Amino acid sequence: METLDKAKLRHQLTPLQYEVCVNKGTERPFTGEYWDNHEPGVYACVVCGQELFGAQTKFDSGTGWPSFSAPVQKESVREEVDRSLFMRRMEVECSKCGSRLGHVFEDGPEPTGLRYCINSASLKFRPD
Ligand code: FE
Repeated sequence: METLDKAKLRHQLTPLQYEVCVNKGTERPFTGEYWDNHEPGVYACVVCGQELFGAQTKFDSGTGWPSFSAPVQKESVREEVDRSLFMRRMEVECSKCGSRLGHVFEDGPEPTGLRYCINSASLKFRPD
C-alpha cells in the first residue's frame, strides 16, 4: 500500500474499512453491505472513487461476498500474490490508490472464468 496515507485514512474510513483496505483484513461473509445487492450501477473504490466493478458482471457466488466476473477495465485493478494463511492466492487492489479490495480466483463463470471476491467494505456503490 505505497500510495495511501494511513494517518489520513484512519480518519476517513470506518474501522472495518480500514481493516480491509489497509490491513488486508476480511469482513465476515453475509454481513457486508453489497453481497446481496442486485441494483444496476457501478462499484467504486471507497478510498479514491475510481470505478472498479459494474453491476452487470456481479453474480451470486454463494460465498457471502460481492463477486464479479471482471473489473470495469482490466487496468482498474492490480493483482499480486498473497501467501498468507498457508495458501497461494491472488490479491486484488485498486490500481489508482492501492487500496486492498479482496482476492481473485479462477473458478468464476464464463466467459472470463474469474471470480473477483471483494469485500463490501472496500467499495462504494453508485446506483444508475
Ligand atoms: Fe482507489
